Amino acid sequence: MLRVGLTGGIGAGKSTVASRFAEHGAVLVDSDRIAREVVEPGTPGLAAIVEAFGADVLAPDGSLDRPALAAKAFADEESRKRLNGIVHPLVGKRTAELMAQAADDAVIVHDIPLLVEGNLAPAYHLVVIVDAPVEVRVRRLVEARGMAEADARARIRAQASEEQRRAVADVWLDNGGAQDAVLAEVDALWADRLVPYEANLRLRKPRPPMSPVIAPYDASWPLQAERRLARLRQVAGERLVRADHIGSTSVPGLPARDVLDLQLTVSTLADADALSDALADAGFPRLDGDWWDDPQDGSAVPWPKRFHVGADPKRAVNLHVRSTETPAWRLALLFRDWIRAHPAERDAYAAVKTELAREHEADGTVVQYAEAKQSWVNAAFARAEAWAADTSWRP
Ligand code: ADP
Repeated sequence: MLRVGLTGGIGAGKSTVASRFAEHGAVLVDSDRIAREVVEPGTPGLAAIVEAFGADVLAPDGSLDRPALAAKAFADEESRKRLNGIVHPLVGKRTAELMAQAADDAVIVHDIPLLVEGNLAPAYHLVVIVDAPVEVRVRRLVEARGMAEADARARIRAQASEEQRRAVADVWLDNGGAQDAVLAEVDALWADRLVPYEANLRLRKPRPPMSPVIAPYDASWPLQAERRLARLRQVAGERLVRADHIGSTSVPGLPARDVLDLQLTVSTLADADALSDALADAGFPRLDGDWWDDPQDGSAVPWPKRFHVGADPKRAVNLHVRSTETPAWRLALLFRDWIRAHPAERDAYAAVKTELAREHEADGTVVQYAEAKQSWVNAAFARAEAWAADTSWRP
């Protein structure tokens, strides 16, 4: 199942977008609703709140009197923590139950207002953020929801900033205009990305191979890589030695194929194999067959690695899982750091790549391209090692 996290500032249009996903067949998990359900009359949640804060947080009909609770629970830090300590685990448990009940081929859309504030982005295969300018949101909250303007502004101020949201957004939906416009974007996102992503994930099928077209450097590549590394760190847990953005997209100013190369370093290939299923479930199925790096130490024995690729049809990722049993993980980092520090080498490498890509455009595959490019890289390693020795570089 594909887990999509959906969030955005209040009044941006999150519920509007969530409903559209549900019409397409997404399984909607609504955090606000769950938070209400776990404290309905008769629940252990409500009983725990009464025990902690007293029976005067109840309305005459026995339901929770939210303003009365807020007055007590937000009076001081300790009370706030006590309330969260009751409600958060119950919400978490119910959320997990609902997700577990979904079918294997479900696309789950988790509507969660505090995704950014709670640092929860790494738990999803994709994070979708709905946004609209502050003034537009205030107007909607006042006009459509009857909120007092000062109240609307105070709530907006208390939430995550646009910058914090941008950092975790895999998809940014601008809902500052007509509703039809954002709904059309949701329709396209569903059909072109979520449906094939879910199928790739379930069938453990990689996205289709990429052509060797070279794109200009994209300043968002490092952020895109970091979002995926955050997911991978969470999945790999204690087996992970380190996780890095490597390859051409990690070098500022270098044109590259629009494929993010990521490297997970583990202690042994057995660790890499033990992670295989979890990486696949996280959206990075392993490619069959034997994969290895060219040995740079003159030995004839290739350096084995595991190779996974991203299942997201709109974001190509090559994931190299290397062990510290061979030096390949170190060389990937050395090459990156060396070429970052040498703009003239970067430009020479760019010229080689552009020329090779032109030569191999016609054959439609990337294999010959990759092999020819590797010979420039292999020669560059000697210069990189000399620099490493001079500067006492360490990975
Ligand atoms: P959120 O769930 O992010 O707080 P909603 O989806 O409830 O936001 O939208 C807030 C209000 O604005 C709702 O009344 C909704 O119908 C309205 N709305 C949503 N998108 C638009 C839009 N593009 N133009 C005008 N009104 C909108």
